[in-house]
Amino acid sequence: MLSFSAPVFSHAAPRIQDTGEELVVVIDPGHGGENEGTDTSAILEKYRTLITAQAMYEELLKYEGITVYMTRTEDVDMSLRERAEFAASVGADYLFSLHYNASEEHAMYGTEIWIPSTAPYIDYGYQFAEVWLGEMSAMGLHNRGVKTKIKDNGDEYYGVIREGKKLGITTVILEHCHLDAEQDASFFDTEEKERNFGKADATAVAKYFGLKSTVLGVDYSGTELVQASLPDLGIPPMSFSTAPETCELELTEQNEENGEVTFLINASDSNELLEYYEYSLDGGESWQGITTWPGYAHNAVKNQESAEFYLTLPREKDTEVRVRVYNAYDQKTESNTVNVHFEYQDELAAAALEWEEAHSGEAEIPQTDSLENGESHPSDGEVTTAADDMGIFDDSFYGFGVSENAAGQENTGNTQPDKMRNDRLLILLAIGVGTVATLVVIFLSLKKEKKVKKRNRRK
Ligand SMILES: [Zn+2]
Repeated sequence: MLSFSAPVFSHAAPRIQDTGEELVVVIDPGHGGENEGTDTSAILEKYRTLITAQAMYEELLKYEGITVYMTRTEDVDMSLRERAEFAASVGADYLFSLHYNASEEHAMYGTEIWIPSTAPYIDYGYQFAEVWLGEMSAMGLHNRGVKTKIKDNGDEYYGVIREGKKLGITTVILEHCHLDAEQDASFFDTEEKERNFGKADATAVAKYFGLKSTVLGVDYSGTELVQASLPDLGIPPMSFSTAPETCELELTEQNEENGEVTFLINASDSNELLEYYEYSLDGGESWQGITTWPGYAHNAVKNQESAEFYLTLPREKDTEVRVRVYNAYDQKTESNTVNVHFEYQDELAAAALEWEEAHSGEAEIPQTDSLENGESHPSDGEVTTAADDMGIFDDSFYGFGVSENAAGQENTGNTQPDKMRNDRLLILLAIGVGTVATLVVIFLSLKKEKKVKKRNRRK
């Protein structure tokens, strides 16, 4: 038998950050006072962060060997510098700034964490981030990963990280979930859930620092951390992000019977991971909502470059399908448009034409002698309404009831009074048939629409 030896850790991975004897952490509920944070949900972000921070604080008090502070416990204004200075004044080893997210287009969902961009803070940030993201993923959230962002002059983009770093404190921003995302709604819709986030944050801190709690009966002193160093991290700052380089859409299979169509997206991004995609059914005018890119994992080195997806489309009209892919920094690239056409549509058109030829062709009683033989009613194959086909709104309909090849022939057999009587009856009959046919067409198209909507909802 072959045996493999897994790497053995004879001792807990050393904490990358030396916290000394006394471990001090500061919890910063983001925003406050005039600074309300995102207002994309019923409750302002500044209130939610306070609730979560309080729960995190209470939970951390249950652990031994840690002193915990909060930058604010009330709805008050506080600058980012003041938050960092407060952390420095109590000798903080780590500053955790708690937030809830929202995206510009209200399209994104999931959890993410922003860390400093330079060593040694990036290492400490990354190690904690991996522990914390593990807690968030366990709750069921989509994991958007670890991110950095810097300004043109190389400074940290986010103020609290910048100010913390200036004072030698590793500072991270925890963006728990998106308050404007339907996909995340079930994670923050009660105060208890906001508190759950705080408890999970505390557990992540306890694991990261290897804490014990007699009250909770847990001992995280053996927790192993990701051994990371700057060159290996491969997290380019958001500032350098570019959109995915390619995004091509291909139709690979089409079911003429049930309207199911299979598409293949080929996309690539040499700097970031592809994270989401979405499709449009009107050539890019409106979009159906994002979905996670298949095989996406926040810490993958590279992800797959093609994704297959299915749609059920209406068979009686063309659909212009287009997709776009997003990378982990929200940059997107749109594909070509694929026009989906079903033979069913041609069959409908042919049937309409046939009907037309059978019934309204003879309607073309030559009013003048200029009509050419056979060309009684022009048709370019377009699907017209039943009323149109019947020629109800057509003056030439007057001649209905005359034999098929009447056009161009002499109609000497018709006397005027008989013709008028026949015409009236026939017009009534035509209106009746036309109404029924129109109703059937409307009913069928509504049914189809419903099916497509249902299908889209599942995506
Ligand atoms: Zn915020």
